[in-house]
Amino acid sequence: MSFMHEMSLAQNIVDIVQEEMTRHGVEKLQAINLAVGRMAAVVPQHLTFCFEIITENTGLAGTALHIREVPLTYRCLACGHEFTADEMAFICPECSEADPKLEKGRELTIENIEVAD
Ligand SMILES: [Zn+2]
Repeated sequence: MSFMHEMSLAQNIVDIVQEEMTRHGVEKLQAINLAVGRMAAVVPQHLTFCFEIITENTGLAGTALHIREVPLTYRCLACGHEFTADEMAFICPECSEADPKLEKGRELTIENIEVAD
């Protein structure tokens, strides 16, 4: 199996989270909440799988990874209309102009981390 993309993303998440834990003196987490754009090219199950491999035998082992998929947000360059879509959009629903600009949906964000009691 080759999940190179997810593996490097998972490593990034772990690095950032561990830095935060050190800074705040936290030793154990309950969950990490992520927001992933539908265009981020992330398969949630693959990301979870990679996260589990990377965190095995670390303080993060057993931490739940919650992945929230966020819809794509487009803005029409012709009329300024903003809209969200589950799939790629090629036409503005307001004025039918082609090629609306993708504003959100490519990013992967750590929304927050839940500290274990
Ligand atoms: Zn438009």
